[in-house]
Amino acid sequence: MVTARRTVVRSTSLMPAVTSLHPGPTRFEGGLTEVGSGIHAWLQPSGLLGESNAGLVIGDGASLLVDTLWNPRLTRRMLAAMAPLIAKAPIETLVNTHSDGDHWWGNQEVAGAEIVATEAAAAVMAEQSPAEMKRFGLLAGALRLAGSMPLPYPRRGDVGAIAAYVGGALEPFAFEEVRLVPPTRPFSGRLELDVGGREIHLIEVGPAHTPGDLIVWVPDSRIAIAADILFINVTPIMWAGPLEGWVAALERLLDLGAERLVPGHGPICGPEEVRRLIDYWRWLDRAAADRLEAGRSPAEAARELVLGDEIAEWGFAEWLGPERALVSVGTIDAHRRGVAKPPGPRELVGAFFRMALLARDFAVRRGSDQRRD
Ligand SMILES: [Zn+2]
Repeated sequence: MVTARRTVVRSTSLMPAVTSLHPGPTRFEGGLTEVGSGIHAWLQPSGLLGESNAGLVIGDGASLLVDTLWNPRLTRRMLAAMAPLIAKAPIETLVNTHSDGDHWWGNQEVAGAEIVATEAAAAVMAEQSPAEMKRFGLLAGALRLAGSMPLPYPRRGDVGAIAAYVGGALEPFAFEEVRLVPPTRPFSGRLELDVGGREIHLIEVGPAHTPGDLIVWVPDSRIAIAADILFINVTPIMWAGPLEGWVAALERLLDLGAERLVPGHGPICGPEEVRRLIDYWRWLDRAAADRLEAGRSPAEAARELVLGDEIAEWGFAEWLGPERALVSVGTIDAHRRGVAKPPGPRELVGAFFRMALLARDFAVRRGSDQRRD
């Protein structure tokens, strides 16, 4: 028996590096970083599913946390890194920017804080359960098994691709410990808070990404914590829409004069990246409308766009997760037909299945896929 000798790597930091949760390269530096005076971002590379960021604004003797993470374990790691900062300025206010679990399912770790969200987000949160995500993960496990069995049924490769995509996406996250702690202070429109003498504005900009999105604006430093209104180097996903609402939210960020922005997913950015995201939405809207009017289904239209040349010409094929256009085009179409509604668990499963196959085909099309069925 060979006993491996443990190598001790000495680091100047006590915290282990925050690397990508999903397989693949870590595309930007993760962990706690100071964005401006007394404003810190917790960044989780590489910004894909559940790899969400958070923000901390420190005032005199009190601080405000913007979002928790997808489960208690990830949230505890973040709070441990923040501990020296919040020792003299405890978190009195927790803001949940929207209803997606990767921005609030760690709330239980922030004891005693007032929890603020929009009324629209709070209404969606009240309907959620981590058990659903767990069931989704179990389904992926069952599919993975089916895909690996040497049965001569057609589309075994499809089943395998779906299982790898869904199972792989949920693998880094454990939901057993999650106990949902909902907002205690819902608001609508706009809310101005004083946190240790510091003025912080919460501005409702949804429905856009989800039904109840908000952005956090810190006027004294011209920094916005924009959450999932911004995906940087990662393809955005529009669950709720309308698209015009999302574009208006992005224009709002530019109008505020934000110089540095913390996205919900991806690295810290400036106004140039906000304009790029507006370009993406305008392109997708126009290109999808052309195809829908020509009689294609939303899924067909999205497939053509993701596998076509235009996406590469615009540079959007470089963003992670291009297959998310499937969901966004579905939302665009639903608004055009006046039948938009938030996806239920059934629609969610269907959307992930279709995204899995499109992600595989995109990888093959771009020649970056080494795996073949
Ligand atoms: Zn998110």
